Amino acid sequence: MFGDNHPLRMTEKTQMLADGILKRDRRSLSRAITLVESHKKEHSKQAELLIDYVLSRRRGQAMRKKDQDLLSTFRLGIAGPPGAGKSTFIEALGLMLIERGHRVAVVAVDPSSKRTGGSILGDKTRMTYLSRTLDAFVRPSPSSGILGGLAEHTNDVILLCESAGFDIVLIETVGLGQSEVAVDDAADMCLLLLPPAGGDDLQGVKKGIMEIADLVVINKADGELKTAAQHATASVRHALQLIRPRSLNWTPKVMRCSSLFNSGIDKVWDKVDEYRRTMLESGELGNKRKEQNHSWMLRQFHEQIMREARRHPSLQKTMTQIDSALVGGYVTPRRAAGELLKQFLEDKE
Ligand code: GDP
Repeated sequence: MFGDNHPLRMTEKTQMLADGILKRDRRSLSRAITLVESHKKEHSKQAELLIDYVLSRRRGQAMRKKDQDLLSTFRLGIAGPPGAGKSTFIEALGLMLIERGHRVAVVAVDPSSKRTGGSILGDKTRMTYLSRTLDAFVRPSPSSGILGGLAEHTNDVILLCESAGFDIVLIETVGLGQSEVAVDDAADMCLLLLPPAGGDDLQGVKKGIMEIADLVVINKADGELKTAAQHATASVRHALQLIRPRSLNWTPKVMRCSSLFNSGIDKVWDKVDEYRRTMLESGELGNKRKEQNHSWMLRQFHEQIMREARRHPSLQKTMTQIDSALVGGYVTPRRAAGELLKQFLEDKE
């Protein structure tokens, strides 16, 4: 069904990127991600071919090694309000994991860039030490003016990072609101990082974010903030008790750490690893990835149809006509959408 009748082949340049990724070259990875993020039609075709190629190579390798390659990687989502210390935490965690022999990629989900035309953290130098480490790959957040962010392509970007030999992918949310949902769709586990604020302040943390957390970590549990962090732990524990766990095999936990003073990060990772083993052994991790793939497929399908529709000249014309009918109240939006779909499908035949 796939591949045989593909109208296009990889260009020499794309082939070089694919080979570079398989050889764990970070520059090739970076350029491949730019290709994946591009909205140009020929770029997205090349990106599709590239991803197919590296994945089939990985599958081949996994079969030879007889292991479950696709589940030997781990995707940890890290959400939390701005200022909670996500960058500081990721830097500390990433460096610790590299010391333990892992290779770590950091990517950011940033739907806010769609609205603002650039990341809210656009020019911030992120994770200075980690960025300089050879066993790490830190994808900078999109600079201002570049549309997109990673939300639409997170899944492809993760697959590319894993194909370049990064066995742990940390997915940071940089935007607000929707990014938590996007991270849940892409990660094996969601870690919610909170500053030490308890009681009423916790009300500011939206219930939705709490609901997706598999592990809540109160950061900045140091110096004068230590007591506040203890109070916050109690409030979060209470809040978590009111939420029905998402998993049959895992109850969300709450812990404390100080990213700035590097204390408790190892304990946090032990918990993450306990989650990973529990979910892997119960089969829930495999199922979660299957469901995520399904929802990414639907999202991609939706986006591809919308893109085709936008490129469709006569549809654009009809849309302008229908728009005036809509303003005049001569047609309902539902009926108008039906007409557009009909024309789109007829023209495609
Ligand atoms: P982000 O917006 O969530 O990525 O937060 P940052 O990592 O940029 O951190 C925001 C501020 O909190 C910075 O000034 C950090 O130095 C500070 N910070 C981060 N982690 C800690 C911590 O563990 N303890 C203390 N005291 N400050 C921290």
